[in-house]
Amino acid sequence: GKVLVSGANGFIAAWVVRSLLEAGFAVRGTVRSEAKTAHLRKEFASYGDGFELVVVPDITAEGAFDDAVRDIDAVAHTASPFHLKAVEPDELIIPAIQGTVGILKSVLKNGSSVKRVVITGSCASVLHVATEPKTFSEVDWNEQSPREVEEMGRDAPAITKYRASKTLAERAAWNFMEEHNSQVKWDLCVINPPFVFGPTIHDTPTPSDLNTSAAQFFTMLTESSPRDTLRSGAAWIDVRDLGAAHVGAFQNEEAGGERIIVSQGSFVWQNFFDAAPEVSARGFQYQKGIAGCDVEPPVVHHIQYDARKAEKLLGIPVESGYRSVGEMVRDTVTDWEARGWV
Ligand code: NDP
Repeated sequence: GKVLVSGANGFIAAWVVRSLLEAGFAVRGTVRSEAKTAHLRKEFASYGDGFELVVVPDITAEGAFDDAVRDIDAVAHTASPFHLKAVEPDELIIPAIQGTVGILKSVLKNGSSVKRVVITGSCASVLHVATEPKTFSEVDWNEQSPREVEEMGRDAPAITKYRASKTLAERAAWNFMEEHNSQVKWDLCVINPPFVFGPTIHDTPTPSDLNTSAAQFFTMLTESSPRDTLRSGAAWIDVRDLGAAHVGAFQNEEAGGERIIVSQGSFVWQNFFDAAPEVSARGFQYQKGIAGCDVEPPVVHHIQYDARKAEKLLGIPVESGYRSVGEMVRDTVTDWEARGWV
């Protein structure tokens, strides 16, 4: 089958594309401009006709994906802004919602062969910030961020604006499915990852070209941080495992109609420093953080995820199946070394 991947030049999308191609799918990617095609064409040249690109200049435009969805068997919608520079919440919310609803509308109109749509959601639409530690699962919805954005507008923290955009976009997708229940011939699966780290295969000539999560990882590991920061964290997944999870979402019938958290586990930043010594032997001048700061006193992970649903529905053994902290850190630093960044 052939899968349409929106925002194919993104950090996660490039790995989704590679995973799909490796699994034997053909891929049609969308990017915003012709200039963004060159790197991908080179990266995936070995797949020949199995990989093609189309330009969709503005995902918020009416009918933006009408042509892109023709003769496609499935859709992976990853395109959505993830940055922390928005002044107006709508800078994130409009493209997130309209891109999502727009691609579903186009599938309804012209995607007669589409069987499944997989949306790259986020744990941002699952979690909320609380004073007590909590283990979240797919039954949880982040009602907090949309409410805070409603109340505070542009004064809301940048991360809150982003979380609201992801929550509202995912809500809009499920609502669309419900409203068009009698017409749709496909089902929806939303993959919800936490922080995504790992090596990059999209176009990143310099560290400043990295996407938000990989950039934060680079900054953290190459600069020193105060103890409180090193003891803080969230949950994470390796981008390569997330690519594989998207493939799993297409291959497993039971994933239809489900939102699925894809998380390796909780981290604090010090964990990544502790995993770095083995690569430092090759010359990477890493920061050591503050050794032991995560165990004395013991860190409490405020946000944890019950990620067992992925195991059942995507065929990923949660305990053994995802890459470890050590593997992710080693491969990411190796990638930086190969690029001459460190
Ligand atoms: P990238 O910034 O690398 O990729 C984002 C993609 O979306 C790019 O193709 C980008 O195109 C496109 N895009 C962004 N804004 C717009 C817009 N206004 N109109 C059209 N296209 C747009 O980020 P990631 O790979 O990290 O993110 C991909 C998806 O994964 C997003 O949906 C994000 O919310 C989600 N996600 C990411 C996490 C992470 O830690 N990285 C965690 C959880 C979810 P262009 O290059 O032209 O700007």
